[in-house]
Amino acid sequence: MPGPAPAPIPETLPFWEGAADKELRVQRCTPCSRHYFYPRPFCPRCGSEEVEWTTVSGDARLVSYIINYRPFPPFDPATPVVVALVELAEGPRMMTNIVGIAPEPENLELDMPLKAEFIEYEDYTLPVFAPAVAR
Ligand SMILES: [Zn+2]
Repeated sequence: MPGPAPAPIPETLPFWEGAADKELRVQRCTPCSRHYFYPRPFCPRCGSEEVEWTTVSGDARLVSYIINYRPFPPFDPATPVVVALVELAEGPRMMTNIVGIAPEPENLELDMPLKAEFIEYEDYTLPVFAPAVAR
């Protein structure tokens, strides 16, 4: 069951357009060549406004997580979800959900390799992550 649909703003629209194309997009600073997330019109490290959107690999690793056993409506309170912090192979970290496994600690090994997946809802597509290796 989807949560509330995202409401893109100019700074986040390319991220959601990428998701609709089943691509994970983040920004990269041209002068220092570093990727960053969340979206903003300047580099968080050097302050340059020479930034561009890029499609990244979708490869990531699990940094931390919680299991929400009682999601608050409009999410389904009966369906636990994994809320995770992942680090992309390109460097940025993002909050996301882990899918493709039962939401139990024994299935969630810190540092485990993950791969981006895309869940299509009626109004939007949500990037999430699943284990890169079947468990
Ligand atoms: Zn920079």
